[in-house]
Amino acid sequence: DDLQLLGADGEFLGFAEPEAEALPVVAIVGRPNVGKSALVNRILGRREAVVEDVPGVTRDRVSYPAEWTGRRFTLVDTGGWEPDARGIDASVAAQAEVAIELCDAVLFVVDSRVGPTATDERVVQLLRRTNKPVFLVANKVDDAVQEPEAAALWSLGLGEPYPVSALHGRGVADLLDAVLRKLPKESAVAKPQLGGPRRVAILGRPNVGKSSLLNKAAGEERVVVNDLAGTTRDPVDEQVEIAGRVWTFVDTAGIRRRVHLQKGADFYASLRTAAALEKAEVAVVLFDVTQEISDQDLRIVDLVLESGRALVLAFNKWDLLDDDRRRYLEREIEQDLAHVAWAPRVNMSARTGRHLEKLVPALETALDSWDTRIPTAKFNAFVAELVQEYPHPLRGGKQPRILFGTQVQNRPPTFVLFTTGFLDPGYRRFIQRRLRERYGFEGSPIVLNMRIRE
Ligand code: GDP
Ligand code: GDP
Repeated sequence: DDLQLLGADGEFLGFAEPEAEALPVVAIVGRPNVGKSALVNRILGRREAVVEDVPGVTRDRVSYPAEWTGRRFTLVDTGGWEPDARGIDASVAAQAEVAIELCDAVLFVVDSRVGPTATDERVVQLLRRTNKPVFLVANKVDDAVQEPEAAALWSLGLGEPYPVSALHGRGVADLLDAVLRKLPKESAVAKPQLGGPRRVAILGRPNVGKSSLLNKAAGEERVVVNDLAGTTRDPVDEQVEIAGRVWTFVDTAGIRRRVHLQKGADFYASLRTAAALEKAEVAVVLFDVTQEISDQDLRIVDLVLESGRALVLAFNKWDLLDDDRRRYLEREIEQDLAHVAWAPRVNMSARTGRHLEKLVPALETALDSWDTRIPTAKFNAFVAELVQEYPHPLRGGKQPRILFGTQVQNRPPTFVLFTTGFLDPGYRRFIQRRLRERYGFEGSPIVLNMRIRE
């Protein structure tokens, strides 16, 4: 039932994209070196190898859009998690724990050539307790000769082992078919609760004041969860009231449970950040105003942008700010956060609670923008006006024309322009700027796509 887009004369222009849905989330867990990243690459169909012979190479991204036989899902790679000083067992167990909490299905990868190790057994204990689907992947079965080794993994008590070769692709199709049969159509962990409180991710690097914010907000007034329509029963989320409005803060378990892994801490944090963003509609990124804006802060902002969620920037510990630092901070914001100048900013103090209530209008503004739908006629009038005023520059005697445009979805607002040729990136940025000037979109990313018609 694809929505057809028709032009001014009723001609068929293409299909609209379906509404943003909560795609089911599949996580890959396992010890270092069993072939997790090889499997991720195989599933994503990528050529460039992230695979390295060094165990546990740190990888930045954790969450990828994936597709198999026309069905889309989100693939979470927990493999970049470097084991910390307390040893590999604790790291791998913690990784499995996150996967179980925050994903819809788990692929547990074991090296069939090595057989189950003590670390594997520990993960098995955790996996047996969940009622989410778990798939036991016996990797490195490069040919039929090795299949008996995979069969030996029945002994783990996780059901049928799937013999695969992540490296050569053997068995991966059967595995994915099986996964998709068990995977829910819509994510249970990332599912929007319609009618319930809106879902907010509180993000920021360690010590910016996330738990202080949570405690302050939760401390003001306890919400009786069961009295609210559509409230979550997910134990990792929490209902919080600020200035008379109730919000669902997602993955507060990740904020409350302070993890002090030494080497793995960063990766653990970005894993949780990505998972929280899956569930959230809007993110509040906290900054500590006594500290310089760091790469880690900017990486978190990037994760929000990648996720397409609405964004609010909160500058915390305002009570500690002196005039010098304040002037410097303003310069930093101008330089480092220019690309998100559209995000509402709140200056606050989580410790004292001062200006906490200012989060409410900021969140509402950002969510309103994120929800915005502009009727096609209005959008086309805007495009026509703009093109007349500033036509696309000539390229080799030719000038791409915009035939028609439409907003194909909201959350975030996503537009498609049907054109007769490639629009310069500069011209597309110009259109985006104009869109913001006209419609605001304060607090929301906007996406502008092109479809070139021959
Ligand atoms: P990760 O640490 O779990 O992400 O493991 P990697 O994907 O980095 O793989 C670890 C090593 O195992 C690399 O040298 C890979 O080339 C190798 N490897 C991964 N999958 C397979 C496989 O299916 N067969 C064989 N023979 N080697 C594999
Ligand atoms: P998290 O790691 O992001 O959860 O940060 P915490 O909430 O644990 O805060 C880290 C430290 O900063 C704690 O000592 C807090 O008391 C302190 N802190 C948090 N917010 C504020 C604030 O607004 N003002 C001041 N002065 N200190 C704060």
